[in-house]
Amino acid sequence: MADITQLNLAEPDQIEWDDYEPGGEGTPPIPDGKYVLQAPVSFAFDATAERRLRVTLDPVVVVGPTHTGSKIRWIRLSTKRYANRNGSPVGDYLRACGVMASPITNEQYVTCIEATTGRVFQGTTQQHVYCNHKDTPHAAAAPYAIDGQVSIPKNGDGTSKLSFPCPVCQKTVFVNSQVRRFIDSIPKA
Ligand SMILES: [Zn+2]
Repeated sequence: MADITQLNLAEPDQIEWDDYEPGGEGTPPIPDGKYVLQAPVSFAFDATAERRLRVTLDPVVVVGPTHTGSKIRWIRLSTKRYANRNGSPVGDYLRACGVMASPITNEQYVTCIEATTGRVFQGTTQQHVYCNHKDTPHAAAAPYAIDGQVSIPKNGDGTSKLSFPCPVCQKTVFVNSQVRRFIDSIPKA
């Protein structure tokens, strides 16, 4: 048996094993489309590999018109400017939320993002699957990715699968919905 005497552990939280509640399979995806969404009440910040400020929105909640209460998890947005337009993922999010400020510094971006707590905005969502084959013998292979509900593998009855084996590494992959586009709410100057 491994020696854990040096870890200075607290006693384990006690679990009622006869009444165990297993974790779910994550958040089921919603049909691709346009939704009214609500920003989270708190935000996690970190840096991208290029040292850009990045925020994680987790969760964004669907307010309507359908699938009210569904959650979209782990939306990560950076301040990196798009290669093909004068905008950025965080900029798109702030404008969708109606933030009129023009942040320049990282601190100003944080202030603006924190001002979106609980705000309602519009966006389009798309179902998504991604696997980088981590911790498998196929870790060096190109990632497996699907974007869009029409491309998700189907069950025998024609409904979309919620999970299936990655065709490259065979690990189970889950279908998620992602926000594909934040719909701008600021009138053009
Ligand atoms: Zn895989």
